[in-house]
Amino acid sequence: LSRRVSGIGSMRLAGLMRLATEIGAIDIALGIPPGEPPAEVVRAATAALTGGRNQYAPPEGLLALREVIAELAQRRRGVTVDPATEVTITCGATEGVLNALLAVTDPGDEVILFEPCYENYPGMIELAGTVPRPVPLAGPGWRLDLGAVRAALTPRTRAVLLNTPHNPTGRAFDEDEVAGLLGLCAGHGLVLITDEVYEGYVYDGRRHVSPLGLPGAGEHAIVVGSLSKSLQMSGWRLGYCLASPALTEAVRRVHERTTVGAPGPLQVGAAAVDVAALADDSAYFQRRRDHLVARLEELGLTVFRPEGGWFVLAAVDAFGRPSDLLAEDLVRSAGVLVAPGTSFFTDPADGRRWVRMTFVRDEGRTEEALDRMRKFLSGGHHDR
Ligand code: PMP
Repeated sequence: LSRRVSGIGSMRLAGLMRLATEIGAIDIALGIPPGEPPAEVVRAATAALTGGRNQYAPPEGLLALREVIAELAQRRRGVTVDPATEVTITCGATEGVLNALLAVTDPGDEVILFEPCYENYPGMIELAGTVPRPVPLAGPGWRLDLGAVRAALTPRTRAVLLNTPHNPTGRAFDEDEVAGLLGLCAGHGLVLITDEVYEGYVYDGRRHVSPLGLPGAGEHAIVVGSLSKSLQMSGWRLGYCLASPALTEAVRRVHERTTVGAPGPLQVGAAAVDVAALADDSAYFQRRRDHLVARLEELGLTVFRPEGGWFVLAAVDAFGRPSDLLAEDLVRSAGVLVAPGTSFFTDPADGRRWVRMTFVRDEGRTEEALDRMRKFLSGGHHDR
């Protein structure tokens, strides 16, 4: 095996997920979209599959879909991008982030990321041959600390990877934070890669802030997005990169080698979306957030109220057990799967205080999971 692969290991959550499936536990850990893609999208994809459109799309993506992505970027990020030269369709945000990393770094370079972080990042950075340099988000408000970023810079730093709205904390970084970070990147010749897969989900009247809309983004920002969450079609594996023509050219060179292109017939389907008619789910998800936060507080957990995204991170130190053991007990004894915080830090020990839950799963099942957790945490019996 390559050193690269031995260093990465498998997803920490995988073992618990297997156990949860065996036991039939209710999963409130994973951010699987609860709904279906828009009907016109499914119809158009079906027509493409049965109508002889089963071959390659252009590597950079179908123009019609790039136009849709540009329209979404205008509406949700307030940014104007040229579908011809600034949009690339990828196989999910996962390929988008990897392409962005490979486009701007060389082996041995360092990439700054913020912890806690989406579980896949450290491994993706290592897969690119680069070295993850974690910078903690400052609790309890999980603010981005520019001083800490500056302190983590070395002559080998090439890129900064930020996720906003943030999985797992629920931060939606504000304009001061994003502009400050972009300024720092521009000042040091770095590229800021933002993973904005939850861009459509910001709460309490907030606005999603993308560096692409800020002055100076030009050669210093690559935005990664996805239709996985935006159109609730995570199995279609459609995502995208937005960047200046020069950075887009670099991203496309990588993309042609990683996957050549995203699935053609599914792009035909996604391109049929009626962007103007898209429902805004954020009000619904905000209500679900409020409900989950209230229930968790009743259980005695300390919760940061999410500003965006699909997750809540709760402190569990009051229960006297590290989160990985607590999560295992919850699966075995209560039949509930939550994500232990140990999955979101390069050093698992840093995540022992936290568990992550989502508020986007089936309402009835979520209630049942919360009831089971209440019985478990209060030491009572439960029936499953
Ligand atoms: N980035 C973040 C922050 C995510 O939470 C997820 C999905 N959980 C992804 C990327 C993966 O997105 P995609 O399905 O588009 O590859």
